[in-house]
Parts: sequence; C-alpha cells; structure tokens
Amino acid sequence: DYKQGGYHRVQVGDSFHDGRYVVEAKMGWGYFSTVWLANDTLMKRHVALKIVKSDPHFCKSALEEIELLEQAQTAGNGSHQHVAQLLHHFWHDAGAAGGGGKHVCMVFEVLGESLLSLMKRFNYRGLPVNMVKRITRQVLDGLAFLHDTCGIVHTDIKPENILICIPDVEDYLEKQKRPSQPRRFSSSSTLLLDSPATTPVSDSSGRRLVKRKMKRQQKRTEDPPLGGKQKSTNNLQQIQSTLSSLSLAVPLDSSSSSSSSTTASLPTIIRSSALDCTALMDDTDDPDNQADDEAWHDRITVKIVDLGNACRIDGNFKHVIQTRQYRSPEVIIGMIWNDRADIWSLGCLVFELLTGDYLFDPRADTKYGKDDDHLAKIIELMRVLPRSLIIGGDYSREFFNQKGELRHAKTLRHRRLRDVLHDTYFMPPEQADGISDFLSPMLEVDMTKRASANTLLKHGWLDL
Ligand code: ATP
Ligand code: MG
Ligand code: MG
Repeated sequence: DYKQGGYHRVQVGDSFHDGRYVVEAKMGWGYFSTVWLANDTLMKRHVALKIVKSDPHFCKSALEEIELLEQAQTAGNGSHQHVAQLLHHFWHDAGAAGGGGKHVCMVFEVLGESLLSLMKRFNYRGLPVNMVKRITRQVLDGLAFLHDTCGIVHTDIKPENILICIPDVEDYLEKQKRPSQPRRFSSSSTLLLDSPATTPVSDSSGRRLVKRKMKRQQKRTEDPPLGGKQKSTNNLQQIQSTLSSLSLAVPLDSSSSSSSSTTASLPTIIRSSALDCTALMDDTDDPDNQADDEAWHDRITVKIVDLGNACRIDGNFKHVIQTRQYRSPEVIIGMIWNDRADIWSLGCLVFELLTGDYLFDPRADTKYGKDDDHLAKIIELMRVLPRSLIIGGDYSREFFNQKGELRHAKTLRHRRLRDVLHDTYFMPPEQADGISDFLSPMLEVDMTKRASANTLLKHGWLDL
C-alpha cells in the first residue's frame, strides 16, 4: 500500500506545506488516504490532515472531492454545522526518497470517532432512541444542505462516514498532556470494550444478541464493502491501542501498514475524547453519572465526512455507488440515481443505530449472487417492487423474469418492518410503529416516491 501510487509514508514529526503542518499522530485511514492529527503552526491549532494516495486516479478523485467541498462552502456561505469543513488543501511532493509521487493533501477540522465505534461501545445492541433521533436529525440537516443547497449526492452514507464532534479540541489535547490530570475516560475506555450496554436487554436474549453481533463484527472486518473501503480495528488492536493511550508512552508506529498497525496513542484518545463522557456509560448505578450520561446524549453533535465519492445530482449517473449494505435498489438494478440514494442509505443506517444490526446484509450462494439476495431481502421487507424497477434498469433482465419475479432467489419470507422491530428487537408496539412510520418513506423502493431530507426533517418521530 505504500508502494508507488499508494499511501504516503508518514513519520510523526514530518512537516508539510513548508513546515506549516507538523504531524503528531495517526487518526484514521481509508481506501484512498491516511488521516493524521497535525499541528497547524500558522493558525496555532490542531487539524486533520488527509493525505491521499498518489496514483493519478486517486489524485483525480481527491481534486473532485475538493471541488465539491469548495462548492458546498460557497453555496452555504461558509461552513455547514453538519458537514466537515475543508480548511485548506495543497500538493505534497514526496520526493525521490518517498517514491517520487505527488499527493493531494486536505486539511479538515479535527473530529472524533465514527458512528461505527459508537455502535461498538454499545456492543451492537443499539443506541438509546433519543440519541438516534438527535444523530438522525443532524445527518438529515447535513443531507438537506448537500442535496438542496449544493446539488450534491454524497453516495457513501454509512456509520464510518459520520464522525462525532469534539467540543474543544485544543482544550482536550491540552488536558491529555498533563499527567496529573485525572482522565475521566481512562478506566472506561478499557471497560467499554467489553462493558454491558446501557440498553436494557433481557439476560438470555442479551447474550444471544451479543454473540450474533460479535460474529457480525468479525464479519465486518472480513468482508470489506465496495472498493475494499472498510477500516475498523479488531478488538485486540483496539485494546492494544486503548492501553497505549492510557500509558501515553507508546511510540507512534506511523509508518507501518495502516490496516495492521496498532494505532497511535493520541488518536485513541481523540476517539475516546469525542466520547469523553462514555466513561459514564459503565457506571449507570451512579446517579451523578446517569445525569451526565443523559447530558452526553444531549450534547452529541455529528458531521458528515468523506465526499470522496460524491457527485452532482444532475449528472445522470448510473455507476455503482454506496457500500453494499447501504445500497439502494435503483443502484443495484442499474437505473439513473439521484439524491434519494443517500436517503435510502440513511434509512439503513438509522435501523442499524437502533438495533445494532444491518438492515440488509446480502450473501451470495451457489444459486444466486449478492445482488439477487439483496433484492430478495428488500422485497421481503417492502413486499412489492414498482414496475419501473422491474423493467427500468440496465440489469433488470438479469434479475427478473417476464412475470416480474426474481429469477434466482430462495423462497421469500415477507416481514413487516414494525414486526421485525417488535419480534426480533423486543420493541414495544408503539415504538416499533413510530420507527416504522419514520423509516418507511426513507426505504420507499420507488425513488421517485422516496422522501427528501427536508421533508423527513418535519417528521414527528424526530421530536424528543
Ligand atoms: P474511504 O475508504 O471511506 O473512501 P477515505 O480514504 O476517503 O476513506 P476518509 O473516510 O475521509 O478517507 O477518512 C478515513 C478515516 O479517517 C475516517 O473514517 C475517520 O476515521 C478518519 N477521519 C477522517 N476525517 C477526519 C477528521 N476530520 N477528524 C478525525 N478523523 C478523521
Ligand atoms: Mg470514508
Ligand atoms: Mg472516501
């Protein structure tokens, strides 16, 4: 991955843009880039430095990301509170020693951990409903801005691309440098890895769910979605990195391969920091902590990141977008898609935040492929597909026979969404009905009838 055309080899202490940005730690990575915590010596603040692979294909995609981010900034008269703000960008020439490539670098504000890590903290048993409502409202707000104000489709809405804000980065980092400072998260970060979730689940079912979710977590790491774009550390790595963050003395192994390296100490702190209050989740018996816990739910702020695959809405695009589990039916069958593809992904994401499980997790079999299984699972839940889908996509005939039935699919088991929520996730009927009422317009199979972000923002389920 660090070969020519790949990631730039970065060491802690490296500086960029004539010494302006000095790298302090690694914060994350994706298929396209590595992301570093850097000190902006000019503005005297910390930033996230995204250094993109140097192959021309990646450079082109990065330049498009910059163009769309700048368009968004112009359209929004500055930054939007729920879309990550690009602060600066520049080229970095790695020179002969660095493989000779030129890397596009993007500078963003520093954000905390992703919704995927947040779900892990709850052992994939689902987040508290009010927290999901807050997050959903903010993501919808960000999407309404991207769609309606900027004319942009994100195309990759998923838990990894929604990050939690750190209220005051400088203050937070400063506190971590003081060894005498009590670290509120220090005991919890370790505990959290195997702590009980705060969501009430009965004992036996709880254990069953955890087992299932452990398997699913394992699968998440084994089965990267489209383009190999998954990046989650496994439990062992997480424990190691958490422990290193506690000692604050572990050398930052910035040059080793990103997927297998123990991440540096600071990023782990940042991950914990966004949730500096997560310490409280383990101590639910403590009334003070309970109060704080609720306060944390209230404060949570998220931002949409990674416009690396974003496109203009009016582009009449048909190419395959979205990570598998969040992919909309119109994309699977090869129709021209638009902003409503993001709404489908968000519907899948909201279900996942509430339950800890994917809404659709298609598998291939000897008799059918992942797309066939995906469509079958969608039909099982939504019952019917509109004629436009059955005949209107480039691949419609591969999936459907002349009667409009799936060519390759197992026997379908129809289930209503509210029944899934009630029967599988033990939600009370009114809660299951409320969630189903909110999600159904997002999971409308006919994209022309699927609700817009702006319409969904008015939905009563979002009221707290
Ligand atoms: P992908 O494979 O999803 O396309 P990518 O190479 O385009 O990834 P991003 O998704 O932008 O990269 O960033 C990779 C990871 O780096 C994120 O999932 C997140 O963990 C971390 N990250 C990105 N931006 C920030 C930020 N502003 N602050 C903190 N961490 C960040
Ligand atoms: Mg990403
Ligand atoms: Mg990307």
